[in-house]
Amino acid sequence: MSFADLGLSDKVLQAVTAAGYTQPTPIQSQAIPHVLARRDVLGIAQTGTGKTAAFTLPMLTMLETGRARARMPRTLILEPTRELAAQVEENFERYGTNHKLNVALIIGGVSFADQDAKLTRGTDVLIATPGRLLDHFERGKLLLTGVELLVIDEADRMLDMGFIPDIERIVKMVPFTRQTLFFSATMPPEIERLADMFLHNPQRVEVARPASTATTIVQRLVATGGEGHEKRERLRGLIRGEGELKNGIIFCNRKRDVAQLQKSLAKHGFNAAALHGDMDQRARMAALDGFRSGDTPLLVASDVAARGLDIPAVSHVFNFDVPHHPEDYVHRIGRTGRAGREGHAFTLVSRGDDRSLQAIESLIGQPIPWFDGDLASLPASDGESDGRTRHRGRSVDGARRGRRGTSGEGRPAPSRRSGAERARSEPMENGAPPRDAAPVSPAQVSPAPSRQRPERGPDERGGRGRRRHEEDDAGTPMGLGEHVPAFLLRPALVKKRK
Ligand code: AMP
Repeated sequence: MSFADLGLSDKVLQAVTAAGYTQPTPIQSQAIPHVLARRDVLGIAQTGTGKTAAFTLPMLTMLETGRARARMPRTLILEPTRELAAQVEENFERYGTNHKLNVALIIGGVSFADQDAKLTRGTDVLIATPGRLLDHFERGKLLLTGVELLVIDEADRMLDMGFIPDIERIVKMVPFTRQTLFFSATMPPEIERLADMFLHNPQRVEVARPASTATTIVQRLVATGGEGHEKRERLRGLIRGEGELKNGIIFCNRKRDVAQLQKSLAKHGFNAAALHGDMDQRARMAALDGFRSGDTPLLVASDVAARGLDIPAVSHVFNFDVPHHPEDYVHRIGRTGRAGREGHAFTLVSRGDDRSLQAIESLIGQPIPWFDGDLASLPASDGESDGRTRHRGRSVDGARRGRRGTSGEGRPAPSRRSGAERARSEPMENGAPPRDAAPVSPAQVSPAPSRQRPERGPDERGGRGRRRHEEDDAGTPMGLGEHVPAFLLRPALVKKRK
């Protein structure tokens, strides 16, 4: 099927040809005729499938007739993030070169005044994030009673971000007789409920199961025993060891970790930008532009900020944290290995991540190989530094050569389950894995020297002995070893302190 068979207008077809597209993608060939026939559409498709053009192209065709009125947009597109909204606007610019349409972008983080001016001029296409749209509405600057077509994009992400009450409010302000296009990458029950509520006799169009990951992506798990500094160092080692790294996105689960990791990478000489929801719009756009142009080859990002971003040809994805939702794993690694190119996706796995990991492997229907030994292969004490030494400088290809299931030393690695079981038996603080897996040391069982150790006076033997053992503990998995400092065996002194 060609674009000409879909019923699009000549102006749109010219723009499509100018964009260099020769064939519609499956979501486009399936959805566009229904949109043009004014049917409601339920599109189950993730980004990267061409779904944006699946609604922008027929919208442009339909908008060729009719005129916009001040403060009464003719169509409304709701997006969960500012970046996605900006990307949809770019699509209208690209495909709408032969049209004279007013497109307004109503997103947070930029001034109200410019947005007001655009709305006053009359808007054919209003692209908005829910919060800012409601702000304009509450200020009395906007009427939604003229909306003929409503697009709710990335509905499952709207749900994740807590936007559903806002969406429900907005939909109530839009005429009942509107046409609705509803897109979601996944269809959990809550999204099914919303689709039932918002759509009238919809045409269901489904492409590319969200569980599928491209076969061109080399996926690896990387065992890490620590959090914070140790984990960051593990990541740096991975990046340095990747000779084929052209550019990469590093995903964190939390916004604050995005900022912290970016700073840390910059401090260590890496050219990295941050992208997270707390940054203002200008900073987010600058980060994205730098990454797209290649000036900043590393982008540290949160899921929400990065969702749906159209960044072609990313060579590497690093999951600094295992994502809590398995679908996020698919979305994250979907940034690489596009259009038949080889991509690389590394996921740092700590003790305590096994449940999230199992969910991911069951969603994608395959186990992910370990890079250089699983969690159980980390030594019980100073596992992190040992792991770093082992992998550093090894290429992905090196890892591929039969590393799976063996530890760095070549001995068979215990199964993940045994590692996970071991992790469960280790002390946990606030549900997080321990900072290191060192066995209980004298420093932990004995009173802290400064506060509880008795005054020593001129007796230096105990002090020196203690310091020596503290140093030893760092590399001695057996804790006290053979030499228990004498002062620890003096109960009378501790009692006196009490
Ligand atoms: P989307 O899923 O909308 O984020 O689109 C993903 C990418 O596919 C974007 O870079 C589009 O420019 C591109 N694209 C959309 N439609 C086509 C097409 N028919 N042929 C080739 N590329 C396309």
